[in-house]
Amino acid sequence: SKKTVLVTGCSSGIGLKIAVQLAKDPQERYYVIATMRDLGKSGKLEAEVGEALNKTLVIRQLDVTKEDSVKKCLDDLPGQRVDILVNNAGVGQIGPIESFSMEDMRKVFETNFFGVVHLIKKVLPGMKKRGGGHIVVISSIMGLQGVIFNDIYAASKFAIEGFCECLAVQLLKFNIFVSMIEPGPVNTEFEMKLMEEVSRSDFPGSDADTIRYFKDIYLPSAHEIFSSMGQTPEAVAKATVKVIGMQQPVFRHQTNVLYTPLTALKYADNTGNLSVRTFYNLLFNYGTLFHLSLGFLRCITCNCFRRRVMPV
Ligand code: NAD
Repeated sequence: SKKTVLVTGCSSGIGLKIAVQLAKDPQERYYVIATMRDLGKSGKLEAEVGEALNKTLVIRQLDVTKEDSVKKCLDDLPGQRVDILVNNAGVGQIGPIESFSMEDMRKVFETNFFGVVHLIKKVLPGMKKRGGGHIVVISSIMGLQGVIFNDIYAASKFAIEGFCECLAVQLLKFNIFVSMIEPGPVNTEFEMKLMEEVSRSDFPGSDADTIRYFKDIYLPSAHEIFSSMGQTPEAVAKATVKVIGMQQPVFRHQTNVLYTPLTALKYADNTGNLSVRTFYNLLFNYGTLFHLSLGFLRCITCNCFRRRVMPV
């Protein structure tokens, strides 16, 4: 029989692609509950999923930050059954922290951390009773390595990584697997939404130097990294679907191998200086050569010269 998979944040990006790929699984292993905050935005998913709509995929309303919405969505499922939960919904935040209100910062945690915690808490009793299940989180490479001007976003992803690392051990006892998917940059609306927010702000509360570092140094390098190293949402969805199909799903999966050396830096030097200084030098001393340096790092880490120069 088919496994019921609930995916959050399916109106766009990675979540939409995961829902479509699962619904069109050649082995027909899945029944997909594709959820989104605003059902008015279901057009794109409906178009992409085509004939599978209302056969192997249904669309439901779910705002991961709203208690009543989570309750209603789960109560409406037959036997409240969710075999596989894919926590994809997430929001970004970039800029100097002096410019964000505490409320802005809490909102990021409400979605990226407490939203995930809430759904996991709700599906666990059923999974434990049935003696099996799989919890997937679309985390980020920023859940393992902080990146300048992504302070709160990275913290929210670190938080969910820590939470899941604790839980994974307990849940193994119940035959429930936990998997963290850690993409690097992905070309979805995510970056666009952030850029729009940034262009609207004049960063009240931040000093001129910090704003200059953000606008003139960080933003251009970030943009360059997205265009030269960014993955497609299809590729990240494909990697996620592969993990979902594993007999013994892995706990962590980084979808972009070019980022692995960067996350290894802090383990290579436990004073933390190597990673902090490397990021400092890459950003402030080499500027837009950042992406070239990433290719070089891969090289010295794995002793291979295949990627000495990144395709630009
Ligand atoms: P996206 O903005 O296209 O998708 C995020 C989705 O989450 C949207 O459909 C949005 O409506 C939904 N969402 C936001 N708040 C919600 C809420 N309260 N309830 C329900 N849905 C909500 O961007 P994406 O790149 O597809 O992001 C998906 C996930 O991937 C996020 O968790 C993000 O942190 C993670 N991620 C993205 C990137 C990237 O570069 N794009 C990199 C690493 C990780």
